[in-house]
Amino acid sequence: MSVNESYYCFCLTQPDNLSEEDKLRLASHKAALLLGSKWEVGETITIRFLEGHPDLCERVKRVALEWTYLANLNFDFVSEGPSDIRIAFQQGNGSWSYLGTVCRTIDEPEPTMNYGWLTPDSSEEELRRVVLHEFGHAVGLIHEHQNPKEGIRWNRSAVINDLSRPPNRWNEATIENNMFKQYRPREVVATDVDPISIMMYPIPRTWTENGYFSAGLNGELSESDKAFIAENYPR
Ligand SMILES: [Zn+2]
Repeated sequence: MSVNESYYCFCLTQPDNLSEEDKLRLASHKAALLLGSKWEVGETITIRFLEGHPDLCERVKRVALEWTYLANLNFDFVSEGPSDIRIAFQQGNGSWSYLGTVCRTIDEPEPTMNYGWLTPDSSEEELRRVVLHEFGHAVGLIHEHQNPKEGIRWNRSAVINDLSRPPNRWNEATIENNMFKQYRPREVVATDVDPISIMMYPIPRTWTENGYFSAGLNGELSESDKAFIAENYPR
């Protein structure tokens, strides 16, 4: 499978069923929303699986916990009761997560994170790649290609053409929000762009006009990912 035919994660920065009051509140705080999506240092985040084969859930949990070895955050996996993060395995619905504390604004029992192509048969390599990435969003990280320090010149029609087709079938708004939207520097804390970050998409050469491309599918946390998260959630 070429990179153009890979599944891509889409990250949700706002709930789509906001009340008018919430929309106004978020709009007025837009510049701080991403910084505002950061959890308190040392916070305990409760997490619940809404479904899924027990073996698969255990594998997801084991990989997710790796973030807590670096960040001063606690993941408390609970089997019932309200929880901050709720995980579904709705097949065909893509893999995605809300960003950081935005999860807390989503009503129970809606999922805040989905694994649309993981099954008990998924390889450990694929599972690690997707789970480390989605939990990166859950601790507040944006996609690396939307880092304000990035200078990608997109070949828009190539990107739209590839992502609107299977397997992703994204609509224009999803493509706009996940590919072309740039955050402003004051909205985020950011290091220099790290092409091997777990939060970087695979970017084929055909998608850019200035010869930029990433190193394909990144499957592990980079040294820069580790340093960045430890610095932002210090012990
Ligand atoms: Zn993502």
